[in-house]
Amino acid sequence: MKPPPFEYHSPTSLAEALAVLADRTDAKPLAGGQSLIPAMNFRLAAPAALVDLNRIDQLAGITESEGRIRIGAMTRHRAVERDGRIAARAPLLAEAMPHIAHPQIRSRGTIGGSLAHADPAAELPAVMVALDATLVLQDGAGERRIPATEFFTGLFATALRPGELVTAVEVPALAPRTGWAFDEFSRRHGDYALVGVAVMLSLRGQGRCDRVRIALLSVGDGPVLAGSAMETLQGTRPTPEAIREAAERAAREDIAPPSDIHASESYRRQLVRVLTRRALTRAAARAAGARP
Ligand SMILES: Cc1cc2nc3c(=O)[nH]c(=O)nc-3n(C[C@H](O)[C@H](O)[C@H](O)COP(=O)(O)OP(=O)(O)OC[C@H]3O[C@@H](n4cnc5c(N)ncnc54)[C@H](O)[C@@H]3O)c2cc1C
Repeated sequence: MKPPPFEYHSPTSLAEALAVLADRTDAKPLAGGQSLIPAMNFRLAAPAALVDLNRIDQLAGITESEGRIRIGAMTRHRAVERDGRIAARAPLLAEAMPHIAHPQIRSRGTIGGSLAHADPAAELPAVMVALDATLVLQDGAGERRIPATEFFTGLFATALRPGELVTAVEVPALAPRTGWAFDEFSRRHGDYALVGVAVMLSLRGQGRCDRVRIALLSVGDGPVLAGSAMETLQGTRPTPEAIREAAERAAREDIAPPSDIHASESYRRQLVRVLTRRALTRAAARAAGARP
């Protein structure tokens, strides 16, 4: 099928794009088009106008300053995957990127598009929640910043206001004695995951957990922060027993996963149990200085 007719705008500056979006409430931004165009072709989305962000150079690129890495919204997944600074300073993100779709899709898909789309099965929303990232949003009235935990508000829903764009996401650079791990299970590599988990774990003196963040994907309406599991590990040594208990609580208490044609609720809980245990074990070893 082909999409219904739409107006096409191709601004070359952010100001121009925001002006069109302010003017046309029935317009949608177009980034990599890897989700929006299929949705339009299936007539699940029918915006009257598209505001193509692809010619706005200022929205793409990766920079680092004051311990934070800023990734412009139009930075392609593939550019993030291949960036040396991301590998060194935000390795959780680097580890998750190859799980997103296939290289062809990663060559077009963008960070901002994936976050704005807020698919509950997408990797990046959970990774940003685990990293405690900040979304940078802008409309004609100015810029605002919002933590990833507050940005995702429901099924394909975000805190974006009409006419507002994601312009960047900022992630804290890896702190000392901090480990990370991303893991997921999908039926074929590149498919959306049945369950995924992103972990950040910092150790303090005597090897106790100082800060633990565990974010799960594909088990709710959006990324789920596994609060009970995090609480289990806080201030304790990440022994195999403690990790096993945290993973158990994640599976039993932190989620209300759907049963659908892809997997039953109980199967998803079992995947959370196993993947969380594996990811925490790897993150704890890395925090303690083991080689990745
Ligand atoms: C076969 C296939 C498999 C895939 N598998 C996966 C997968 O395993 N994991 C995964 O995470 N993704 C997967 N994707 C989706 C892919 O990662 C997309 O790149 C991503 O979902 C959307 O990014 P995009 O840049 O293409 O956005 P677009 O499709 O252009 O836009 C998506 C939505 O976000 C809005 N938008 C875009 N940019 C902005 C912005 N800067 N500010 C505000 N709103 C904006 C658009 O208006 C639209 O509503 C898959 C896609 C395909 C086609």
